[in-house]
Amino acid sequence: MHSEFELITRFFTPDPPGAEAGVTLGVGDDCTLLAPTPGQRLAVSVDTSVAGIHFPVDAPAVAVGHRALAVSLSDLAAMGAHGRWCLMSLTLPAADDEAWLADFARGFHALCDAAGTALVGGDVTRGELAIGVTVMGEVPPEQALTRSGARPGDLLVVTGALGGGAGGLALWQRGERDTDHPLLQRYLHPLPRLEAGLALRGLASAAIDVSDGLLADLDHLLDASGVGAELTLDSLPLAEGLVAALGEEEAQQAGLNGGDDYELLLGLPPEHLDKARDRLAALGLALTVIGRFSDESGVQGVTATGERGWQHFAGGGAP
Ligand SMILES: [Mg+2]
Repeated sequence: MHSEFELITRFFTPDPPGAEAGVTLGVGDDCTLLAPTPGQRLAVSVDTSVAGIHFPVDAPAVAVGHRALAVSLSDLAAMGAHGRWCLMSLTLPAADDEAWLADFARGFHALCDAAGTALVGGDVTRGELAIGVTVMGEVPPEQALTRSGARPGDLLVVTGALGGGAGGLALWQRGERDTDHPLLQRYLHPLPRLEAGLALRGLASAAIDVSDGLLADLDHLLDASGVGAELTLDSLPLAEGLVAALGEEEAQQAGLNGGDDYELLLGLPPEHLDKARDRLAALGLALTVIGRFSDESGVQGVTATGERGWQHFAGGGAP
C-alpha cells in the first residue's frame, strides 16, 4: 500500500505546476499558495462523485477521472468563468490497484490539460471509492453568468444536445461496452462547456449547467430569476442516435429529465441570438432556441404550432 504522499506525487503531481500556472508554492507544504489575477473575481465550486451513486462501479477508470473533474468544471462554465486551479480529495478502497489509478489519473490530467486547469493539491484517504473535486476559476467583476438574470421575453436556449448522458448510462446498464459509441462517450466523457461560457459573457442574461436534467435545472433558473417559461417540446435538440437507441418516447424523456448532459441552459435577449449563435458556431457547437421566458409561473409545454400541452411547476414532478 502506498503512503498518501507517494500516491499524490506519483500519480497526481508528477509535473508540479509552477509560477506560469499562478502557483507560488506547490504541493508539499501545509497549503498551496496561489496568485489570482488582480481585479478578477474567484469562482469556486465543489462536487463529489461516489461510486455506485454518481457513476457505475464498473465504469472505466479513465472515465471516472475525467468525469470527476468535468462535473466541477461544468459549474465554472455555467458562470462564464475561466478554469484555473483544482483540488482533489480522493477516497480509495484499501487495496491499491496501480493500473486503475494510472488510468484514473490519465483521465483526470487529460481534462486538466485541455481545460488549462492546474491540479494544485489533494488528499487521499481509505474507504469506498469517492472523488471530491474543488475547482477555482476567474471571471471579471459584473461579468459572471448567474441564475438570476432571466427576464420575460428572453429566449430559452441550450448548447449542444440533450439526453445523451442518460442515454449512455442506459446503454451501459444494458451491457453496451463499446466506449466509442457516441452515447457512451456523452455519458463517460462529458465535455464541460467552458469556451461556450466565456463566449456568452455579455450576451446571456442567465445560465445554469444541465447536470440534473433539463426540467430540474430549468426550475432552478426560474426560481432564481423569478420568472416562468414556455418550453417548445418538439424543439429539443436530442443527442445523435438517442431515438434509435431508446425509442421516441424514452428519448424525449431523456431529453427532458435525464441528467449528466453538462450542456449550458441560458436566457438570451432575442437581439443577442445571432451573435451568440455565431460565437458558438466558431466553437463547433450548436445553440438551439427551446422556448421563451414568461411572467407566468412554472413551465408550460407547448408544441411548435403554439398548442399548449402539459404544465410543470417547480417540485411538481416530471410530466
Ligand atoms: Mg451546476
